Parts: sequence; structure tokens; C-alpha cells
Amino acid sequence: MSTTSATLATRPDQATIRELLAAGQSTVSFEFMPPKQESGEPAFWDAVRRVEALRPAFISVTYGAGGSTRDRTIRITERIAAETTLRPVAHLTAVGHSLTQLRNIIGRLADAGVRDVLALRGDPPGNPRGPWTAHPEGVAHAVDLLRLLRRSGDFSVGVAAFPEKHPRSPDWDSDLRHFVAKCRAGADYAVTQMFFRAEDYLRLRDRVEAAGCRIPIIPEIMPATDARQIRRFAELSEATFPRDLAARLHTAAGRPEDGLDIGVEHATALASRLLAEGAPGLHFITLNRPTAALRIHANLGLRGRGTVPTPRSAHDRH
Ligand code: FAD
Repeated sequence: MSTTSATLATRPDQATIRELLAAGQSTVSFEFMPPKQESGEPAFWDAVRRVEALRPAFISVTYGAGGSTRDRTIRITERIAAETTLRPVAHLTAVGHSLTQLRNIIGRLADAGVRDVLALRGDPPGNPRGPWTAHPEGVAHAVDLLRLLRRSGDFSVGVAAFPEKHPRSPDWDSDLRHFVAKCRAGADYAVTQMFFRAEDYLRLRDRVEAAGCRIPIIPEIMPATDARQIRRFAELSEATFPRDLAARLHTAAGRPEDGLDIGVEHATALASRLLAEGAPGLHFITLNRPTAALRIHANLGLRGRGTVPTPRSAHDRH
């Protein structure tokens, strides 16, 4: 199906994330990535089933830079919708796609009953720090993809937010202006880039609110359990990594169980503070290995249909 204004097949038991958040529910969710090879699929589905048992509000599946992993993202998202009790969120980027291709993908998701999409620009392929060039027949920014989704059907659409500003944004003012443009264009919620200090999230939230935008901003939690990950995180996100956490992980080098304990302890404290400050949910990055995220989830006492048990108090967003 490739038409605009798609009719969305819905699963009767599943409200969209927009509807959950509008009803004041705090969402607990997990991020997965499509396995690089088909041979990785059994382990992928095992990990998904472990998380499914917790009845999270949703799981999201990232969108690769190109080729077969992209098709796998769509196929996996369709399968999650058809074969599990989970609510899937499809990440979608503008990288390398014409408008026609984007419309086709959106139509495919709609046909599979996927109503939740995270609308992203994506990074320049090959060199994420290189200059961004839009596809000549595609869209230039996430806000354009968001508008396309809005025109294409009744999707619930999330966007990206950056607690330390987008690393390529020249300054905070422009970063904030472009984020607020996504709110005004109808974003239902935002999910942040990974970060390791609660203050970065709280500062972003205050800035966004002061700019007149009140959409829920769901913090992304990345448990850091191994010193060798630190450089990878910097490549992925350029988020500031706390020196004391780095030092503790270096001390635990070669002892994976100790590293896991340290990462879980730090992320539990961060997540707990964020919830106490009124964050509208938690989105755990799993890298398809959910052990650390599941331990944090247990530490926080989160259970049942992905909602956070304590009412949001300090900053009730709705
Ligand atoms: P945009 O909102 O378009 O912003 C990108 C940059 O352009 C910013 O500096 C912004 O200030 C600026 N900008 C925006 N609008 C304008 C304008 N009109 N004029 C001038 N400048 C403008 N990447 C993937 O490839 N696959 C994924 O699955 C994926 N998942 C992600 C999930 C989350 C939660 C996050 C936070 C990021 C994810 N990313 C993913 C990475 C993301 O695609 C990149 O960080 C990308 O560089 C920014 O995407 P965006 O949607 O914020 O883009």
C-alpha cells in the first residue's frame, strides 16, 4: 500500500502512546535494534520475549543507515504487531529516501497496524559527524517527516530530543527553536538521546517549557556496564560521560559482573531521580541484551502494562 491518508488497522487492546500519555500514564519502554544478520534473529526474539513478560508500554525498533537492516526493521516491527502482545514503535529516518519511498514505508506500517512512529532525520551515512545532505526528492529535517506522517494517517508520532543539544547544532537557541518547531508541527511526545546526568534532562525540559512547548519528553536510559563502551557512546551520542562512573568502570575492567553492578546502580539512581522529578516515563536502551535494563526495572519496582506505579508529582506535565 502506498497511498497517503492511510487507514490504520488498529489492535483493539492497544491505545497509542499519544493516548497513553494524554491519559496521564507514565510509560516504561525498551529500545531494540534489528539484528545485522538473519542468523541473529533467534537471539533477538528471545530478548524481545524476556521484555514482553514485563508488559512494557511499548518497544521501539531502530532504523539502520541503509540496506537490508532497514527492511528488517520494518519486517520485525510488523511481526511484533502481529505476533506479540507488545506495542511496537517504528523508528523511521529521512536518510536516503525519496518521498515516494517514505510514503511506501508509511503505508506498509499502517497496513500492519503500526500506529506509533518515531520521526527522525537520521545522520549522514558513513560519517555521522559529516555534513548533512537531504535526498534530492526526500525531506530535509525530522519536522518534514513528522508532517508527512501527519498527512498520511492517524499516527502517534514521537521525535528526538537532545539533553545536551544536538551535537551539530551551532547553539542552544537554534536547537531549541527547531525542537519547538517539531512540537508545533504536532509531535505527540519526544524521546531523548542517551545522557548520564539528570541535570541535563531537567535543563532541557525547563528550556522547552519556557519556550511554550509542553509535550512529554521521555528520558532514554543507557546502562553503562563496561569501560570499553565509553568510546562507543561518545561516537553514538557525544553525551558527557561522568568521570566518576568512568573511573569505577575502569577499576572493574575484566570483571563483567562488577561492571554490570556498577552500571545498574548508576542507571537505577538516575532513573529514580528522573521519575521523582516527574519524567513521563523511561525508555531503556537494550542493544538487544536486556539484562541490565531488566535489573534496573526490578530495582525501581516497575511492573504491569508499562506504567510507573507512583503518581507523577513534582512536575505533573498534564
Ligand atoms: P532534526 O530534528 O531534523 O534535527 C537535526 C539537526 O538539524 C539539529 O541540529 C537541528 O537543530 C537542525 N534543524 C532542524 N530543523 C532545521 C531547519 N528547519 N533548519 C535548519 N536546521 C534544522 N538515527 C538513526 O539513523 N536510526 C534510528 O533509529 C535512530 N533512533 C534515534 C532515537 C532517539 C531517541 C534519538 C534521540 C536519536 C535517534 N537517531 C537515530 C539519531 C538521529 O537520527 C540523529 O541524532 C540525527 O542527527 C538527528 O535527528 P533529529 O530527528 O533530531 O533531526
